[in-house]
Amino acid sequence: MTSAGRFAPSPSGELHVGNLRTAILAWLFARSTGRNFLLRVEDLDRARSGAEARQLRDLEAVGVGWDAAVVRQTERGALYAEAIDRLAGQGLTYECFCTRKEIQEAPSAPHAPQGAYPGTCRKLSHAEREIRRASRPASIRLRSDVTEWAVEDQLRGRYVGVVDDLVLRRNDGVTAYNLAVVVDDAAQGIDQVVRGDDLLPSTPRQAYLASLLGLPVPEYAHVPLVVNHDGVRLAKRDGAVTLGDLAAVGIPADQVRDLLLGSLGLPPGSLESSVSRFRPEELPREAWVWSVPRGA
Ligand code: GLU
Repeated sequence: MTSAGRFAPSPSGELHVGNLRTAILAWLFARSTGRNFLLRVEDLDRARSGAEARQLRDLEAVGVGWDAAVVRQTERGALYAEAIDRLAGQGLTYECFCTRKEIQEAPSAPHAPQGAYPGTCRKLSHAEREIRRASRPASIRLRSDVTEWAVEDQLRGRYVGVVDDLVLRRNDGVTAYNLAVVVDDAAQGIDQVVRGDDLLPSTPRQAYLASLLGLPVPEYAHVPLVVNHDGVRLAKRDGAVTLGDLAAVGIPADQVRDLLLGSLGLPPGSLESSVSRFRPEELPREAWVWSVPRGA
């Protein structure tokens, strides 16, 4: 399988300039290392009608293209089920009946990192599980052997983060993001994951899951986010932030692409023309503060 990078948006709304900048970066990382570039729609959760089509249109408008048919997570349930069955077969899963409130109120296990699942359902007896099943559908959790795991990030270096008994399948039957992303990246031959650095804390969990499933761990590069003037991650409420909003104030997609390239220290023009100049080590390491260009 050819090696590939990817962009994996959740179709929960329109892409804003922060998402588009990450997509451009992922594309440049892939192309400058001779990789294919794939697009995966992460629609297990939060899918809004029409959002996928608008996201694909906007990616193309800033010059981000992809090499194979778009993959949608809602079409891949069998792959996720197979992976969870494999972990279950190794004794690495258990049913969890906890509500969110119970988890918040449970005393945390000794030495457990903050925010980690306290392990309440890990040791339920067969009989206790039978009783709990009658009142509430179970989620499936990983029986993790570690409390932390290290990953190597191309921009951030070695990063050690928490691994707990993370959810693999939610109690409404939906596959959890961490499992789906690991299974999909491996199945699609993705060996380079470039995404926003808000996802760095999830990465040790994903790398650990990949190792348990015997899957290769991809290269990681977590890129700085785009923020508003208060230093907070950009969101729809920050004004003109989508291609649609910007077109309405007289800024076409080409100009947005050039602004984003400029924020990366790259000259205006097509993304192709930046491939040979792209140097990950020269990328700005701080978040980029968005302001709508004057004269619009
Ligand atoms: N679907 C996730 C998001 O839009 C990205 C997941 C990933 O890149 O691994 O935040």
